Amino acid sequence: MSSVVRSLNEHAGAGVPFSVEFNPPRDVAGEARLWRTVREFERMHPAFVSMTYGAGGSTKDRTVRITGALAQETTLLPVAHLTAVGHSVAELRSLIGSYADSGIRNVLILRGDPPGDPLGEWHRHPDGVEYAEELVRIVRDLGDFHVGVASFPQGHHRSPDLDHDTRHLAAKLRAGAEYSITQMFFDVEHYLRLRDRVIAMDPVEGAKPIIPELMPITSLRTVRRAEELCGRALPASVLERLTRAAGTGPEEDRAAVRAAGIEIATEIAQRLIDEGAPCLHFITLNFAKATSEVLTNLGYRARAAVA
Ligand code: FAD
Repeated sequence: MSSVVRSLNEHAGAGVPFSVEFNPPRDVAGEARLWRTVREFERMHPAFVSMTYGAGGSTKDRTVRITGALAQETTLLPVAHLTAVGHSVAELRSLIGSYADSGIRNVLILRGDPPGDPLGEWHRHPDGVEYAEELVRIVRDLGDFHVGVASFPQGHHRSPDLDHDTRHLAAKLRAGAEYSITQMFFDVEHYLRLRDRVIAMDPVEGAKPIIPELMPITSLRTVRRAEELCGRALPASVLERLTRAAGTGPEEDRAAVRAAGIEIATEIAQRLIDEGAPCLHFITLNFAKATSEVLTNLGYRARAAVA
């Protein structure tokens, strides 16, 4: 099975590649919807698709089964997110074994956040790991896995400053990660400064792909979700555009908010393409339509599979 970096290179000939993130569905109806979304994206040939991991393994069995099915029953390259929260090293090894058994060789290694309150105090599992970097080493030692990690354009919320944050990102890359995927952002300058910081700190690790993550806003409710995922309030200029579109009536003008959200995501994506981003990674919340519209605006078409 291919690796993310190899797939990015293979897809680059047709323009800047894109990739999408899915979440483990909660029930049978959610699973059916996910599969419809998967089939729609399959026609557009993303460089890879990633599946998040519920905090503390709350949906572990379903997540492993569905991610395995992505590997076995589609033409897509799946990346399994793996978090250290609530797991001993033995459990993490066993989980990695389950992924390997179903044909998954690409994993995004994360520490995770305390379940219930992402900003709450972090306690490692007594037999677990303290930082994602340790888990990167464990997974690399297990054999033939391709590993990615998280990066934070505005710094991780627990990092005292950007220098500390960059140092630990470089350490995760040095430990064997081949690329990073960023936390979502709405100001491209933050992404560009992150890229500059990593290159300045470690030119070798800084040459590895930093894949920007973005999400089209489709309603004022998604604004709150986006702020949770960014870990910060949206920039005032973005919020202003969305609230202006929502109007002053008793109900938000959903069509106008959606149109503004798609326009904002298209502008961010275009700037990232112009700045040489290696890929555009979209949070989809398991829906295809908004991301497809952004891709269409950017000139992507469903195209023949990359050889
Ligand atoms: P780490 O790299 O361990 O860093 C955590 C903090 O410790 C940082 O402040 C870092 O600077 C600091 N640090 C690291 N190493 C050291 C050291 N040696 N000494 C001192 N300080 C150190 N969460 C989920 O639950 N499931 C998911 O599927 C998921 N997917 C995500 C995907 C992406 C692209 C991103 C950006 C985040 C995702 N998250 C997910 C959230 C993520 O788990 C949290 O943001 C978490 O708080 C940080 O994880 P990390 O892997 O960056 O941690």
